[in-house]
Amino acid sequence: MTVYKHSGSLGASVIVAPALATVAALLLSLAYAYIDVWSPIAGYISILFVAGFGFGLMVALRFIARLSKCRSPAFMGLMGTWTALLSLYASWGFFLYALLARYDDTFDASMLDVLASPGGMWAMILQINDTGWYSIKSLTPSGGVLWFFWGIEALIIVGAAVAGGLMAIDGEVFCERCMTWCDDSPLTTHLQVPDDSPANSFSSGNIKALEALTVTDAQQNPHFRLSLKHCSACDRFTTAQLALVRFETNDKGEVSQKSEDMGPAHVLSADEVARVKLLASTPPAMESLPVTSDASVF
Ligand SMILES: [Zn+2]
Repeated sequence: MTVYKHSGSLGASVIVAPALATVAALLLSLAYAYIDVWSPIAGYISILFVAGFGFGLMVALRFIARLSKCRSPAFMGLMGTWTALLSLYASWGFFLYALLARYDDTFDASMLDVLASPGGMWAMILQINDTGWYSIKSLTPSGGVLWFFWGIEALIIVGAAVAGGLMAIDGEVFCERCMTWCDDSPLTTHLQVPDDSPANSFSSGNIKALEALTVTDAQQNPHFRLSLKHCSACDRFTTAQLALVRFETNDKGEVSQKSEDMGPAHVLSADEVARVKLLASTPPAMESLPVTSDASVF
């Protein structure tokens, strides 16, 4: 049984990915800068805008990797780095332009003028840092405090884009024969975690060991989830991934599901596919009670 590994092939991504990443970085930077300047509420809410910006960059990189059929995490990491640096620079350029266009009546430079002048941008940044530009509860952050906020903002943008690139095809599976991404199979197996052996001694690489476990349902806490990805074009390529699923209840009584991959995904042989299908169609040995935090049931 072989571990599934991305082939590293670039597909159309050599041309498509830099072009699309540039467009995505510029559009998201533009939106972010204008929201920042024009938002009627300033201050702490800004952290949500930055988070949204970072999330947008991650989603865009994932989309670009899929669309261009890039199977190289390293190349997507490079694209993430480019996206990060461009986003940081462009969001500053757009921000300065939007800020001056809004508040400075004498300002008549174009957006391109601002972006094409790194020296001018830096001078403006230093000037704004000196006085601050927004207030939180009558305090106007400037100087070191503002640098600190800007540093965090930059870390979020750069971190999100670089990580978003490196992880853009995590969990995805590609059929090299058909040149297409595989789909999630509806055949999912839930298995009881045995008490007598450590959870991480199991993986999708040993179907025989999984067959020895008791079939349960998706509510069991904890349980193993064996999920499949399948190429619907050739019907001959299937991978399996084992995850340990846990339900956790927080102070507010909200239940959240945490899943942790047990080893990498493995490519299944035809025989193993048939056996996993059989396992997936086996009814649970016993129904577990739904996870609940309602203490009144006791
Ligand atoms: Zn295929």
